[in-house]
Amino acid sequence: MLKNKLSNAFLELAPSPMLKMFQATAKYKNLINLGVGEPDLDSPPEVIEALKEAVDAGFTHYPPMNGYPDLRAEVCNYWGDFHGLKLTPDEVLITSGGIQAIYLVLTAFINPGDEVIVTDPCFPSYIGQARYVGGKLVGVPVYEKDGFVLTAEALKTHITPASKLLILNSPSNPTGAVIPRDEMEKIAKVVEKHDLMVLSDEIYESYVFEGEHVSFATLPGMAGRTITLGGFSKTYAMTGWRLGYLMGNVDIMRVLSVLSTDTVMGVPAMIQRAGVVALRDCRGFVKDAAALYKERVDAVAKLVNATPGMSCVKPKGSFYVFANIEKTGLSALDFAMKMIEEARVIVTPGTACGKNANNFVRISCNGTPEVLAEAFKRMTDALSGKPFVD
Ligand code: PMP
Repeated sequence: MLKNKLSNAFLELAPSPMLKMFQATAKYKNLINLGVGEPDLDSPPEVIEALKEAVDAGFTHYPPMNGYPDLRAEVCNYWGDFHGLKLTPDEVLITSGGIQAIYLVLTAFINPGDEVIVTDPCFPSYIGQARYVGGKLVGVPVYEKDGFVLTAEALKTHITPASKLLILNSPSNPTGAVIPRDEMEKIAKVVEKHDLMVLSDEIYESYVFEGEHVSFATLPGMAGRTITLGGFSKTYAMTGWRLGYLMGNVDIMRVLSVLSTDTVMGVPAMIQRAGVVALRDCRGFVKDAAALYKERVDAVAKLVNATPGMSCVKPKGSFYVFANIEKTGLSALDFAMKMIEEARVIVTPGTACGKNANNFVRISCNGTPEVLAEAFKRMTDALSGKPFVD
């Protein structure tokens, strides 16, 4: 009955394979969670204090719909200082996390049947959201041998007259790939030639360990057609605050702001006030978090390569290691289930991120060196037939 009433996007929605995993995790204690996509750090104390002060100061009413001007100005300062992106506050829209930012762009630009190009694998929400707006998702496979970097050559072969929007995500979730400048420049030429719009999801911009972060909109000709996504969740360990933003052409921001007003009616006032403090006063936090995760990513990559049946290329950014598990003979989901049941370790199967990652699992580098070593000891034991005993 309900099935016939749902919109087309939901009629054929298959239960997520991850559901099986979530159900399994609920059964066990002693789990080490390397599945979660957030830093295991607390938000900066000054930001927490600023939130309390904002509530006491009466920031409990509707906020400006596109965000407080000083918060938007701090976004401009941050991106100007760190990534050479020259913006004015009119070119910034504050959103309810990066996730709403993606939805705004897809809703504003995609007509049913328009093609949305992503890498395969990619951040799973791109897949769901493109579907909800009636877009046709086109996945460009990226390969371990290339460090999972999207190349202009591969992109070209997936362009059709229906191609509308390219979603770039460097550094990448789930692979940790960072697209180097020369490849970005080649991609920009393809984008120009085929008149594509670009959503450049740069939410992991502060976690680049090798090479540089290139903000796509800084490349010649790209500013007008690129909408850049940034956030607080990863950079400041503020996932629970649901704060993010988009940056781009004023006219586009105006459209997206109307859409955001009609659907969310502004991002909570006190959260925005705290966001000003994060961007203005917490640069030390950003640097320390990046240094910590560089060490952890190095450590996890070594542990993966020392585990029989597992291997990886060292990621250049983000805080994930995308581990190849082909030699275990297990599918990604079977591997992830085995690790929950026999090692009490949670990892994310690559299949959550597309069709091209059944031999991979994503490991979030969360935990002290001792916790990470324990997780890999348990996984090694489970793979050699010695299940964890609670
Ligand atoms: N983009 C990517 C690539 C992500 O990994 C995430 C979070 N996992 C988001 C966007 C959304 O982040 P948030 O809504 O927490 O800002």
